[in-house]
Amino acid sequence: MKYTDAHCHIKPNVFSNPNVVGRICNATQESEWAVFAENSGDETFTSIGVHPWYITSVQNGWQSRMAEILRQNQTVMVGEIGLDKYHADMPTQIQMFIEQMELAHDFRRPVHLHCVGAWDKMLHILKEHKNALPPAILAHGFSGDQDLIEKLANEYNMFFSYHASDNATDGLVARVLATPNDKLLIESDASDTATQIQILQETVQTLSDVLGAAPDDICAQNYTNFQRITSYVRPID
Ligand SMILES: [Zn+2]
Repeated sequence: MKYTDAHCHIKPNVFSNPNVVGRICNATQESEWAVFAENSGDETFTSIGVHPWYITSVQNGWQSRMAEILRQNQTVMVGEIGLDKYHADMPTQIQMFIEQMELAHDFRRPVHLHCVGAWDKMLHILKEHKNALPPAILAHGFSGDQDLIEKLANEYNMFFSYHASDNATDGLVARVLATPNDKLLIESDASDTATQIQILQETVQTLSDVLGAAPDDICAQNYTNFQRITSYVRPID
């Protein structure tokens, strides 16, 4: 079986599992940006951002340094960024999220989104930025209301990635069933390759059960959707 990981935190220069044919590695703070940006492209794509858990880690001028990396590295996306109700200082989280969304729009890069307990605020921001959106958004570990999915997919070109442990929070089945086939992705959210393959295997099996499709077909569809979202930054031959 060949697996694809739509969202992980493994350093992109770490040896990649041969059974993982595509992956998107997310940096969460500036100290990681350089190594993630230098190793993007081919089947390992990367994104750089300031995660809402790490907003206090930033130094003055981070916006222009992030812009410069995006300018120099055409395949690098923006993320993991977003809002998290369980972490401090929502006003600063919102401000930094908007600044990074604007960079993603300016450089035409997809965004990798973290949103926990803040979908009302997120929808408000997306609506306000309707004319300055990034080309695509991947909502990782989507935990919002399944009734939002169709609207988000259509209006914001949003993709949705899931991992099996979301089962613990319930609602995974309903969310997967509500997600359009061409916007459905699988992720590990892992920081090491052993955990990554274990979570991908479990998640493929879970989606196979939920959707009544063979694991091979789930993997093939996932790879197609990985190519779809990374097509926005794939170098043109
Ligand atoms: Zn993550």
